[in-house]
Amino acid sequence: MPRHGGTPPVYTKTGSESEVDAVTVRTRYAGSPTGLLHVGGAWAAFFNWLFARHHGGAFVIRVEDTDRTRSTEESERAILEDLRWLGLEWDEGPDVGGPYGPYRQTERFALYARYARDLLEGGAAYECYCTPEELEAERQRARARQLPQRYSGRCRHLSAAQRSAFLAQGRRPAIRLRLADFGRTIVVDDLIRGRVEFSPQHLDDYIIIRSDGSPLYNFANVVDDHLMAISHVIRGAEHLSNTPKQLAIYEALGWTPPQFAHLPVILGTDRKKLSKRLGDTAVRDYRRRGYLPEALLNFFALMGWYPEEDREIYSLEELVARFRIEDLGKASPVFDPAKLTWMNGVYMRRALEADPGRVAQVCLGVLLAEGLVAEPVTPEQRAYVEKVVRLLGDRLKVGEDILTYGDFFFREVTFDPAAEQQYLRRPQARELLRALADRLEQDGALSHAAAEAAVRALAAERGIHSREVIHPARVALTGKTAGPGLFELMELLGRPRVVARLRAAAERAG
Ligand code: GLU
Repeated sequence: MPRHGGTPPVYTKTGSESEVDAVTVRTRYAGSPTGLLHVGGAWAAFFNWLFARHHGGAFVIRVEDTDRTRSTEESERAILEDLRWLGLEWDEGPDVGGPYGPYRQTERFALYARYARDLLEGGAAYECYCTPEELEAERQRARARQLPQRYSGRCRHLSAAQRSAFLAQGRRPAIRLRLADFGRTIVVDDLIRGRVEFSPQHLDDYIIIRSDGSPLYNFANVVDDHLMAISHVIRGAEHLSNTPKQLAIYEALGWTPPQFAHLPVILGTDRKKLSKRLGDTAVRDYRRRGYLPEALLNFFALMGWYPEEDREIYSLEELVARFRIEDLGKASPVFDPAKLTWMNGVYMRRALEADPGRVAQVCLGVLLAEGLVAEPVTPEQRAYVEKVVRLLGDRLKVGEDILTYGDFFFREVTFDPAAEQQYLRRPQARELLRALADRLEQDGALSHAAAEAAVRALAAERGIHSREVIHPARVALTGKTAGPGLFELMELLGRPRVVARLRAAAERAG
């Protein structure tokens, strides 16, 4: 085995920003297409993107699809779509190509085979002919004797004759990295965690290529990061224990490893590892519910990175300008959906001022998903949604709030039982609602001024406060006690629906 023994390899940390600029920054997101894009994955992808953009480098997407039983094309498509929706556009990747392609691991098997051969020839790896059954029997023996479950090393020193005999039996070899006698501490000099040491006792001769020729994660990941000239690997904490194994491969191949930064584990609001338990964990869920990508990115930025105290809202340009990997904390950030919703509300308000059509589009997505609007959406429907959005204004923290506060614009009224009890059960409610309907029963559009005049005239005629009409009318038209201005919503609902709902509520009332 070459280069074993001697001083431990130390992979030095980049000191200053200018040193970073001296290398060509290339980062990557190397997701496995086995499901939707998780917020943890998007979070890591975002820091890779920010770092690359900050340094004018390249951001690469690599698809780690070697687990063929779990990887699907559909999932790859969905992940890329969500990354693009977030605005993390990439310079190289499976769909856009690039000088270091292909960018899907299943299209790179010949490369892995080639470097595995180099390792075999140099003696850093060896062929292992053990069958899965033999390996399982070994593990069971170790378990029974309460010994660590490590590979026995049976195939470490096979002669050419022994290998031919195995081949003649029809066995196909896997390839193992010769690691058990590495004998030295491996040091990961992590940009976030500092120096992390891994004792050699825990290193096993792990398989880098299976007997069917497919590569294992740790091997393919190293070959690709090297060949794709990746300078910085920013990834989740769960990969920290893989890094010493990967560093051993870099060393065996005589390659300089990239710099590593292992992000902390994201926690849920219950301080346990983030999971479905506390709500949505896929970016797609937030997209469906009508969150804005810029709000998600701002929120991600503040998970683990604290550029300034007392400030939470940053534009993407500011984040790119200020991002420094050194500022990332080691402490686990909490994914707090309530905070995300608050932040989204800030961005929704801004979007409402700058471009209400965009907010309408976001809400339209929710309405379409809910089946309250159907494709193809007409220009009239679009304009209607935009009017609703303007009327609901600040109430819209996320797109799905259009259902919470404005569902009655798109479907029949669902009565809030408490509202009905309070305002429709009164003796005079039935008669008042009918009288208002009669007053409004005429031709032509209903303006909010005309709606207001009708309500006030009715109250004056009866000698009651206009509240006495307004409250039951609101419940009749919306099913709720609170919401946007009554006269405006009457104008938007239009005369026929207003009259019909007043009459229908009158039937229930009394
Ligand atoms: N395919 C790995 C994952 O999705 C990539 C890990 C890495 O970034 O090296 O977790």
